[in-house]
Amino acid sequence: MGLATLKEVLAGTRAMGYAVGAFNFNGYEDAQGIVEGAVAKNAPVIVMASVSAVKYIGLRQTAGLVKGIAESVNIPVCLHLDHATDVALIKEAVKAGFTSVMIDASAKDYETNIRETKAVVDFARIYGCSVEAELGKVGGKEENIVVADASATFTDPADVTRFVEETGIDALAVAIGTVHGFYKADPKLDFERLEKIAALTSCPLVLHGGTGVPVEDFKRCVKKGISKINVGTELKATFSDAVRKAVAANPESEFDPRKYVGPVKQACAEVVKGKIDIFGCAGKAWRV
Ligand SMILES: [Zn+2]
Repeated sequence: MGLATLKEVLAGTRAMGYAVGAFNFNGYEDAQGIVEGAVAKNAPVIVMASVSAVKYIGLRQTAGLVKGIAESVNIPVCLHLDHATDVALIKEAVKAGFTSVMIDASAKDYETNIRETKAVVDFARIYGCSVEAELGKVGGKEENIVVADASATFTDPADVTRFVEETGIDALAVAIGTVHGFYKADPKLDFERLEKIAALTSCPLVLHGGTGVPVEDFKRCVKKGISKINVGTELKATFSDAVRKAVAANPESEFDPRKYVGPVKQACAEVVKGKIDIFGCAGKAWRV
């Protein structure tokens, strides 16, 4: 089918009451597993590469890998660059074929965030690529971006309308109490804030820090207007766990690498299938 844009996969999500899962990958096995999980559920899927994943795999390699996977299946697959702060890298990703990029200028002041985000939108449009931006700061550690929990600031609803209108973004990441990485205690999500933001804009809203959010909280977020949910840490842990188990299960004489990394595909597919059921996007591939 080929790659779809973020705008395409998120269209109508809020009206129909579901969110599309966005899953981070770091190599071939997890990327393939994520898409296989979505195929099993006939769901659209967003495959995400962090900046450090792109540096590890290579930008063109990342684009080529996911393009190839997308062309071999009959569901919409969006290739998204997660949390990029470097505009030059974003432009390279757009040119290499990413169908969505996130410009994260949320650490900068409001006016700078608007200006940088708008510049990225103007560039991405030329290539038909979608753009996600962030208002407020999601706490925790996202690759090399560390936001201390105490300094994480929630999205101010008063900032939303002007930001969305002036930048022309396709999706807005909101900070409502989730954090990146593993939670030390269950997150306390600010649903009232989410409701207020959703009432102000029809722009699809994104929830970051989806690892360890209780199922009922996920469902409430979707009901109150979240269209895209990011899950990264859980898949990293799943990848490593699957490899550890395979190493332990095989004799030392086993030298076929596929015996060790192969199980990662199925393990990641299972995690993705579970999330798709929670997010309500099973069977929605036909919509895009
Ligand atoms: Zn994030």
